[in-house]
Amino acid sequence: MTGAVFSRAAGRDLPVVAGGRGTELFDTSGRRYLDAAGGAIVVGIGHGSAEVADAIATQAREVAYVHGSAFKSTALEGYAEMLGPLLPVDDPYIYPVSGGSEAVETALKLARAYHLARGEDRSVVIGRTGAYHGNTRGALSVSGRDGLRAPYLPWLGTAAHTTSPYEYRCPFPDSHPYGCGARHAQALEQEIVAQGPHNVAAFIAEPIAGAALGACVPPDDYWPAMTAVCRRYGVLVIADEVMTGFGRTGRWFGCDHWGVRPDLLVAAKGAASGYWPLGLAVTSGEVHDTVQRAGFVHGFTYSHHAVGAAAGLAVLKILSRDGLVDASARRGEQLGAELRAELADHPHVGDIRGRGLLWAVELVADRETKVPFARNERMAERIAAAAKDRGVLLYHSTGCANGSEGDLLVFGPPLVISPAEVTEVVTGTAAAIREVSR
Ligand code: PMP
Repeated sequence: MTGAVFSRAAGRDLPVVAGGRGTELFDTSGRRYLDAAGGAIVVGIGHGSAEVADAIATQAREVAYVHGSAFKSTALEGYAEMLGPLLPVDDPYIYPVSGGSEAVETALKLARAYHLARGEDRSVVIGRTGAYHGNTRGALSVSGRDGLRAPYLPWLGTAAHTTSPYEYRCPFPDSHPYGCGARHAQALEQEIVAQGPHNVAAFIAEPIAGAALGACVPPDDYWPAMTAVCRRYGVLVIADEVMTGFGRTGRWFGCDHWGVRPDLLVAAKGAASGYWPLGLAVTSGEVHDTVQRAGFVHGFTYSHHAVGAAAGLAVLKILSRDGLVDASARRGEQLGAELRAELADHPHVGDIRGRGLLWAVELVADRETKVPFARNERMAERIAAAAKDRGVLLYHSTGCANGSEGDLLVFGPPLVISPAEVTEVVTGTAAAIREVSR
């Protein structure tokens, strides 16, 4: 019997990718696709960068692998030096790993280690309804997507959940749109009290909820109120910037929109733009010094990988030199405006929301009542398939920030997308929606 690949698209015949350049991908039959999803909102600097490929090759030729407990590398030291001032974390220490879930696991462990080092046995981490933080055991335990969690529930650890800021169906409609940030903070405080304040180690959340929930931008009073509650109870703030980091939302990090200074931050995806499986767990100097004093031991075989650092550094230089964070903000405004102009009146488009180059269209059966489609009538997956037939790649999700199942089209193109390509994405999407809703 021959070997076979475990499929991530069971039952579907996938094209074979042959190459990529900027926002474009090509399959082996020569078809061109405009990539408006960056894979899974990963590719920031665009496909096919010779510069990043050269940086990876140079490092691999010099030395591909050493264990992080035996050697430092100039690639990693240089990476930390350039990245440090861009991070919204005080005196940041960077723990490089191989992806988002590993970064989340690292941050969860660091949070517990921090409290233990201070003589406090805090083990509960509070996440949010509907949230996605990864598929490993710890990351899944703090995630709030019931569909993904249910089969593993008895196996998941100490986690609790609080409300998600979901403006389209605000859980506090009487306070909406002014003052619901304070109500979310109240809900968090109630959860901390219910768990016992001395048991709660950390609160984990994305600054702007990513693709799983469809680019939910919180109200401006949300983050100041949430961080104030965390500080009051000595609960560490973990910002999950796996999707929002590295310019995706039009600032270097999602936290920057509100001046949030988390104790821990995790990133991945855009960090190496898909050129290397690079993730980062970042601690404040205070957390770092505390856990180091207590002899924190942690690591994976491939953490601190020099080639990963070389890829990350090359990507960072390109983001910075080519002004791609500002480009993300500008092109994002265009994308949002054109999505609204083209789709806002469609009878099944309930909401269009986003920031920078992370946008979502939420589809509903009835726009007036916001009633979602029955499972077998959902549109997003079919629209994404119709758009792919037209050569536009979209991301779709069944996540919903209130914990139920949703119907979302998500846009996260490479930050190098041109104004004309933004329009091409929107017209391709609109045509696909028309085709599916005929
Ligand atoms: N956190 C968030 C917000 C994510 O979007 C993801 C991946 N979609 C993860 C964590 C997990 O990252 P990975 O798939 O690299 O393990």
